[in-house]
Amino acid sequence: MRRRLILKMIPAGVLAGLPTFTGAARAAGLVPAFRGTPRIAVGGIASECSTYSRIRARMEDFTVLRGQDVFKAPLSLPLQRYEAPFLPTLTASAPSGGPVERQTYETLKADYLERLKKLLPLDGVYLMMHGALSVEGMDDAEGDWYEATRAVVGPDCLISAYYDLHGNLSRRAVDTLDAMTAYRTAPHVDRIENVMRATDMLTHCLRYGLRPGIVWASIPALLPGEQSSTEWEPGRRLWSDLSEYNRLPGILDVSQLVGYVGRMSPGPRPRW
Ligand SMILES: [Zn+2]
Repeated sequence: MRRRLILKMIPAGVLAGLPTFTGAARAAGLVPAFRGTPRIAVGGIASECSTYSRIRARMEDFTVLRGQDVFKAPLSLPLQRYEAPFLPTLTASAPSGGPVERQTYETLKADYLERLKKLLPLDGVYLMMHGALSVEGMDDAEGDWYEATRAVVGPDCLISAYYDLHGNLSRRAVDTLDAMTAYRTAPHVDRIENVMRATDMLTHCLRYGLRPGIVWASIPALLPGEQSSTEWEPGRRLWSDLSEYNRLPGILDVSQLVGYVGRMSPGPRPRW
């Protein structure tokens, strides 16, 4: 289990006063401000998988919403408050359990990508994820999903993702996403706020022509699941401290993930 802290910033270098937060920063900069109505796709795949479970999640375990049905999910309701309509592809979610059967994942991904291609050209993609997806024969299923998305939408399209606090973040994810955020609470009572953070960052950056960068740092500490509740210590203080960092100029979002049990691709070595 790993605990990570994510910073998103504009522009690069704004964190010079915070030398302890180092990691996979990448160049941030300005892109031409958006004119007109942006085209933003919405999609994603989410499950909380323990790789130690022998149970496999199959297609029948997933709730799959396609096209306009994507907006029937309660967590999609905040999308209606935006002037620019979100363009639906596919969302798939399964309850917590074991890894996902490979063929199920490949079928869902192919369906999603086909729908994404039909929406091109796109200015943004909003992905409703979890961060603890595990797929048979893959070490980093989310990274695979992001890279497949990037291959379709191209380098200029902004991709923002929504995470659970109990998610893992890989180097591939950091390198492919433009923005991400995660729950601040466990139990998760800020789901709607999380959706709004992820979509606000995306629409804000499109509106003002900003290209955010992600800074990622692994924190060398382990927290058992029951101690990651933000209702009591130490979780309460550790997550409440985020509000201080989120007030810093130039910061779009600071999130902290506690991680989830399982194997994944190793990330960059922390510098501390
Ligand atoms: Zn969770």
